[in-house]
Amino acid sequence: MADNPQFVWVDGKLVPWNEATIHITAVGTAGVSLVYEGILAYWNADARKLFVFQLDAHLERFAQSIRLTRMKQPIATATIKEGILALVRANNYAENVYIRPFAFVESTSYSGMSNDQARIVVNTMPNPAPVRSGRAVHACVSSWARISDNMMPPRVKASSNYLNARYAMEEAKRNGYDSALMLNSSGKVAEAQGACLMIVRDGKVITPSATSGILESITRDVIIRLCREVLHVEVVEREVDRTELYVAREAFLCGTGSEITPLASIDRFTLGDGAIGPITRQIEALYHDIVREIDARYPEWRTAV
Ligand code: PMP
Repeated sequence: MADNPQFVWVDGKLVPWNEATIHITAVGTAGVSLVYEGILAYWNADARKLFVFQLDAHLERFAQSIRLTRMKQPIATATIKEGILALVRANNYAENVYIRPFAFVESTSYSGMSNDQARIVVNTMPNPAPVRSGRAVHACVSSWARISDNMMPPRVKASSNYLNARYAMEEAKRNGYDSALMLNSSGKVAEAQGACLMIVRDGKVITPSATSGILESITRDVIIRLCREVLHVEVVEREVDRTELYVAREAFLCGTGSEITPLASIDRFTLGDGAIGPITRQIEALYHDIVREIDARYPEWRTAV
């Protein structure tokens, strides 16, 4: 495939893409006991520079996911960070890049318990960014509930969690929607299948709290800070009711891959006038510039490659 990188980072070494293989019998367990991160690096075409956004925060969450699944992390986070930067350099990008570190236990036993030493791999691929595409999407509230902390903790970024997302997304697509919002086991709004949710009511940004059954999103934290510190918009983290979604003036998804994705409607209730709202637009524009260092504030969020 044309998008395949030249190298993959495997257990601390750069390995040519077609040599980075595992044995087929390891797949069963690896597919279940696998945690990962999705990180974006942004290409600033004018400066001809590539910036990895929030690399430290992603690697901290990666280590946390490894620890919570009780795998052993054999390589220090600082070494993984250096490895990622070396890998992105070796793959020689002049465009936005999706970086995917993953950790899994390799085993031929399906119990997943025979080995707890994680293997760590990092892959990269080009990522054309959808932000400021000018399009607002249509979401539904899924009939599937979000997984919960005492069952399959959403706080851990585990590949298995995404089967829950797949059920919701597949249903949404089949019913003609672009995105699925999920309620938690208490019937309150949690998040979208692969992003967090923010709504705007009475000029305030409201988002489900960290205990609502969400992945503690790095983009969510970034937006909360940008709203409070730059845009001077009040942000409230709290439980959100389903019907609040329908009366919101604006709503958007946020996440590394989703960036800022404005919603035009939820369950066919049009939000505002159905166009991208003024607060969402401001957040989108600011996020676009911050991640690329067009706006040089928050230098600690960007790692130059
Ligand atoms: N929730 C879920 C379920 C996700 O998959 C993602 C994407 N990683 C997010 C939220 C957003 O998280 P982040 O901003 O850290 O990418």
